[in-house]
Amino acid sequence: MDINDSLVSRFYSQIILEDFSIQDQENLLKKEITIIGCGGLGSPLSVYLAASGIGRINLVDPDKVEIRNLHRQVFFQEEDIGKFKVDVLKDHIEGLNSHCRVSTFKNKSWEINFNEYSSDMIFDCSDNFRTKYSLNEACVKYNVPFCNASVSDSDGQLALFKNRVDSHCCYNCLFPENGDIDANDCAESGVLGPTVSLVASLQALMGLKYLLNKFNDTETIFRVSSKKISIEKNKILPNSSCRLNKL
Ligand SMILES: [Zn+2]
Repeated sequence: MDINDSLVSRFYSQIILEDFSIQDQENLLKKEITIIGCGGLGSPLSVYLAASGIGRINLVDPDKVEIRNLHRQVFFQEEDIGKFKVDVLKDHIEGLNSHCRVSTFKNKSWEINFNEYSSDMIFDCSDNFRTKYSLNEACVKYNVPFCNASVSDSDGQLALFKNRVDSHCCYNCLFPENGDIDANDCAESGVLGPTVSLVASLQALMGLKYLLNKFNDTETIFRVSSKKISIEKNKILPNSSCRLNKL
């Protein structure tokens, strides 16, 4: 079976979509992405992207599976409690799609040297502002597309920043850091499982479309309400006083 036959048999239902081609499928296989945080957002995101045919995935998370994770992090089992999340996910993904190569990093994101690998996109699935701001800064510095998402209570929000060399509009333009960035983290807020998987699915869709040059709503904030079952979007304007704007 040549590569095209094997792609068609696995991804038939994607390839027959009107706006999706076998060339797109081949392109996904060449993409490398990095997911920071492998909990409620990052675990379904990584599984959807691997199943969709992304070729290389780097998983970053220092945490182990706990029983209180299981109501929303549905790719973990009771028997996984005490194991590193990145190890459990790697096993799951490699069992799902053996063509997807997975690397794991049991570090905090700010301990990662982003020069060590070349990601086509970084997905922020963290639950704290320190990580979000440090990732944004690294992505602006290295001109890496940055897909940010967070969930708190019944609300989620997402945005994808291109971070191109010739223009500037970043997470920091939208939410300038001020005061104590360790305050107001969403790690301890309540949340329903389907809310995080809804936001993770949107993040996967945005990432796939962007990687295939089919996504026009970059620099746009999507606000998801699982209470109202609604999604609103608003264009993000560059902030001329953003400290990361070096243009
Ligand atoms: Zn900025």
